[in-house]
Amino acid sequence: MAITPSQLEILRQLFANATPEQKSDFLTWVNKTPQAATSPVTASTFDAFLMERKAPVCPHCGSVHILKNGHANGRQRFVCKDCRTTFGFTNNTILHQSKKDLSVWSLYIGCMIQKMPLRKTAKACKMNLATAFAWRHKVLDALTNMMESVKLDGVVECDETYELVSFKGNHKNSSTFQMPRKPRKRGGRASKRGLSKEQVCVTCGVNLGHQSVGRISNLGKPSCKELASVLDGHVAEGAVMVTDSHRGYCKLADAYRASHIRIPRKRHVVNGFNIQLMNYYHSALKGMINWHFRGVATKYLNNYVVWHNLVNFARGSDEEKECTMRDFVLTTKCVSVWKKNLAREPIPCKVA
Ligand SMILES: [Zn+2]
Repeated sequence: MAITPSQLEILRQLFANATPEQKSDFLTWVNKTPQAATSPVTASTFDAFLMERKAPVCPHCGSVHILKNGHANGRQRFVCKDCRTTFGFTNNTILHQSKKDLSVWSLYIGCMIQKMPLRKTAKACKMNLATAFAWRHKVLDALTNMMESVKLDGVVECDETYELVSFKGNHKNSSTFQMPRKPRKRGGRASKRGLSKEQVCVTCGVNLGHQSVGRISNLGKPSCKELASVLDGHVAEGAVMVTDSHRGYCKLADAYRASHIRIPRKRHVVNGFNIQLMNYYHSALKGMINWHFRGVATKYLNNYVVWHNLVNFARGSDEEKECTMRDFVLTTKCVSVWKKNLAREPIPCKVA
């Protein structure tokens, strides 16, 4: 049973008047009392859900001088006192103009935590296959924002992994797509031996707390600049960077003011440091992409990497991850429209 605001105020005043010993006794007791786990979304409307999680700010200018401005289609609208534009709760989120109820989104994100294939997901959420596909990348585009705030500290392992460039997808009705090379069967091999422009390089960094960043940096072997394009801003000052013998990392460790442990070729351990966790990260990523999803198009690879970061690699139970993902994805600033999917570059990095 919830207590009333006036009862809460009494509690506050009583606490303010308590002696320091009484306060510390009380706080110990509070910390021992089991807390309810983060409750799953119960609100059946967008507004109630979003209202719980954020104070409205103007999505156009960021101002907090907001006035209520009536309702449209049963939803609260606001007007910004500074820039005079009007908006609702869902502006600039992936829920904008969504015609499905929040419970469907919730269910969909649950399916994503289970890494369910599209057809199964579409059936479970009672939606069209094309919608299920569009939603997958809407959700993952939004999830990419989560990586921006990741700061790797402690022991940070950095390395690259390679995937063959893939043009997987249905191009039958496309007027613009042209296959730049002879088609090959999924999996298959590159026509050249070793590293070449046929492989896309995914640069990754992980720490022992199971935080991670990863993104496509280039084709073939990366330069220092290309490694930096992924790792810049994500390695905390004073971290210990553990890397292979790639020369680029020396410069980066200097720039990030991190100590650097460089593991030479044909060795696995230096002073007790290794890149075993990174190897695990890569093999789980490859398992998900090549085995679980039977290969993914290079244009969507970045999205699968962030999915992998959360679902396979981050710490926590499935329920916790589901709450984190839902709360983040549904409220973060991300405008995702279907046209954006069509306009994606087949290879999302600079091709030299
Ligand atoms: Zn404004």
